[in-house]
Amino acid sequence: MSSPIRPTPIRLAIVGMGKIAHDQHLPAVAANPDFELVATVSRHGSATEGLPFFPNIDALADSGVAVDAVSLCTPPQVRRATAARAIEQGWHVFLEKPPGATLAEVETLRTTAEAAGVSLYASWHSRHAAGVEPARAWLAGRTVTGATITWREDVRVWHPGQDWIWQPGGFGVFDPGINALSIATRILPHPLFVEQADLDVPENRAAPIAARVAMRDTAGAPVAMDLDFRQEGPQSWDIAVETDAGTLTLSKGGGVLTLPKGETAPAGADLHGEYPALYARFAQVIRAGQSDVDVAPLRLVADAFLCGRHNRVEPFVE
Ligand code: NAP
Repeated sequence: MSSPIRPTPIRLAIVGMGKIAHDQHLPAVAANPDFELVATVSRHGSATEGLPFFPNIDALADSGVAVDAVSLCTPPQVRRATAARAIEQGWHVFLEKPPGATLAEVETLRTTAEAAGVSLYASWHSRHAAGVEPARAWLAGRTVTGATITWREDVRVWHPGQDWIWQPGGFGVFDPGINALSIATRILPHPLFVEQADLDVPENRAAPIAARVAMRDTAGAPVAMDLDFRQEGPQSWDIAVETDAGTLTLSKGGGVLTLPKGETAPAGADLHGEYPALYARFAQVIRAGQSDVDVAPLRLVADAFLCGRHNRVEPFVE
């Protein structure tokens, strides 16, 4: 019996060869036969596995290397310009999270991609953590009475040398915090809005090192979020949701789900499954001629910055 014919691989270039490109994108692409890595782009570093290597996306566009799609792994501040250049080339675009530095620029990318007939994919890796879809399914039939999000990590451990995170458009502690919001906006049955926010910004930096955000869902349940980049010792990436049937908790960034009353949750964390799932979805939207751009997590971050009180706190020195 002959095996089914696979579609031609999507020829992919990765732009911004930093931590996430090396840790997650390269292995996920190598393991996915829907993609063929054809080039990498970065201002520093060197070629990956002898493939063509370019200092910027203009050089890639001028090179004549055949490309169908790009994954943009740069910091958010340069995402829009790079994505616009890629769309101009007719390339499908995978945006690392957050999809941009502002809402308006993501909306313009969405319309530009649509007009050009290419797929735009705003990825949210935390939504593919093992506990997230089971949590969403369990919560769908319940009344949520409140939720707390605790996302506290040590910036020196997880973001060493990443100055962009402290600059305007870098999001500060909302860089990991938006991952929590990507989960919350996926699992909670009703949309959220921001009521109040406190943002602690070090005197020598432009972005918050900690934040407390009070939100509410449209059914009236309060959702409190506590973000802190100064956490030493055990790290917290936890969401607890109170319901009429008890408390659901998601820990380890969505990887571990615990249900009330001894209910059995599916097996634990599989953080390495997040990026394979993102590339499976990217291939799917490209092959279907669609885009997938959900800005809900970014909208909540933007609103926290809009209505939040900005408190000056002691300088942060790495
Ligand atoms: P990173 O290690 O700083 O890597 C980003 C890369 O982008 C840099 O190595 C740099 O490479 C390039 N770059 C930096 N500034 C640039 C600029 N102004 N113009 C063009 N290129 C620039 O950061 P990262 O941790 O990989 O994060 C990148 C994105 O992925 C962020 O949006 C982050 O939220 C997201 N993300 C990170 C993680 C994580 O665990 N680190 C997880 C999920 C998602 P060159 O200097 O060689 O150009």
